[in-house]
Amino acid sequence: MEPDFDFLPEVEHESGIKASACFQCRKCSNGCPVTFAMDYPPDQIIRFIHLGLKDLALGSSTIWICAACETCTTRCPNEIDIAGLMDYLKQRALKEKVVLRDSLTYRFHRVFMDEIARHGRVFEAGILFRYLLVSGQWWSKLADGSWWRDTNLALKLLRKGRLPLRPHSVAARQEIESLLK
Ligand code: SF4
Ligand code: SF4
Repeated sequence: MEPDFDFLPEVEHESGIKASACFQCRKCSNGCPVTFAMDYPPDQIIRFIHLGLKDLALGSSTIWICAACETCTTRCPNEIDIAGLMDYLKQRALKEKVVLRDSLTYRFHRVFMDEIARHGRVFEAGILFRYLLVSGQWWSKLADGSWWRDTNLALKLLRKGRLPLRPHSVAARQEIESLLK
């Protein structure tokens, strides 16, 4: 894999985030609640940027799994906005049409963002239904019988009033939709 030595200056210039200030202490990754699902922890993505390993940084599932909770940004002793970097890398991966190695993660991200654009907030039942369809898991769940366990869980949530069947739109929905364009 050929390193791209323009990658670090480009990232810093376009995002306004000083990734080169990272000294790899790993405080960001140690606080991140979703590293268990990532292929590389956040500090390693920053290392890829330092080394010009653009394909690894943009092709990683990490950038799509990031929940933008900003724990990493808050913990960084060098005040690097790691959550902002993840967001920048997502935009760049889309712009460069990078093939996503973990396409299910990307499909979930798309469904999630579409639901936000439609209603201005998350509609859990809608996300669940659409994700099952676009991911193809609808059929595999029917085949292996796991749909029954999921249905039981959904019924429990329904009984507790935690899974509304109708979306509730927010007042500033169009404003949110335009932000996402
Ligand atoms: S917390 Fe900041 S300095 Fe430490 S590894 Fe993460 S980005 Fe780098
Ligand atoms: S913003 Fe993303 S990378 Fe940072 S702690 Fe939250 S989930 Fe992890």
